[in-house]
Amino acid sequence: MDRPMEGLRPPSQRTSRRMYPEDQLTGSAELQPGAREGYAIELRSVSKTFRLETGEQVIAVDGVSLAIRPGELVCVLGPSGQGKSTLLNLIAGFIKPSEGEVLVGGRPVTGPGPDRGVVFQRDTLFSWRRVEANIAFGLEARGVAAAERRKTVERYLKLIDLERFAKAWPKQLSGGMRRRVAIATVFANKPDVLLMDEPFVGLDYVRRAALHKVMLDLWQDSGCTIFFVTHDIDEALALADRVFVVSHGRIAFEATVDLDRPRSTEALVSADANDLRLKIMQSIGADPLTEGEA
Ligand code: ADP
Ligand code: MG
Repeated sequence: MDRPMEGLRPPSQRTSRRMYPEDQLTGSAELQPGAREGYAIELRSVSKTFRLETGEQVIAVDGVSLAIRPGELVCVLGPSGQGKSTLLNLIAGFIKPSEGEVLVGGRPVTGPGPDRGVVFQRDTLFSWRRVEANIAFGLEARGVAAAERRKTVERYLKLIDLERFAKAWPKQLSGGMRRRVAIATVFANKPDVLLMDEPFVGLDYVRRAALHKVMLDLWQDSGCTIFFVTHDIDEALALADRVFVVSHGRIAFEATVDLDRPRSTEALVSADANDLRLKIMQSIGADPLTEGEA
């Protein structure tokens, strides 16, 4: 029996990011206490300090508060070394905050969990598993029955347009195809929250745009919340409902990306997009072209 809706969430959740078109949160939001439970991800005055072997302290995240709604796709932007990955690792539960609280789905994060999927820049496919077995891995780990696994794998192979590569080994795929599989692998686990740390770095424009489309399709299909780290302003504008600029461990700027989806190339160079692009660039700060500093 063909059940195309298999695995989809109820419409109320799938469309939940559209439920709050008008209200805006700020990065350092003074939040309504009663509204807290409703957030997919919440950081309350979070700081993270690393102590180096020399005894020196590095403040990677400095008093960040933010609240992300279920189904939102937020991009966290900034040059390297500003604390983006540290924020992601705190939400993933790989590290603990030095101060403050991290909540996912209203619950304090105490470690990694299946409610959160993570995609890194590096290729994370298992080389000894075929494509289909890679996609099935998380389902196996969770004890999903074989028939159900097969159906889910088929569905995701179709969504990423790689059905004919089900039996292929990762090394037989191009870099772009491997990343498609890696994305399908995390979506197949149906995480509530997907954490992506510069997953498309180093790809040419066309391949990256193709991956953006795959990712956005899977996101809209799943209704999950995405926390996407990038240093690329164009990528953030192409993807995000909201952008946060991180500078020296703080949120330096936050804005809603008010562009219709799907976002055409024209829309991404429209006056509105360029206004926002300029604000983001200014919030990132130093302009090496005018300040003569590398
Ligand atoms: P980004 O992802 O924006 O490039 P990171 O979050 O990786 O930045 O790092 C922010 C700062 O914290 C940097 O100065 C980095 O060197 C430091 N840092 C990150 N992780 C560690 C760690 N495990 N130990 C020591 N310092 C770290
Ligand atoms: Mg990083």
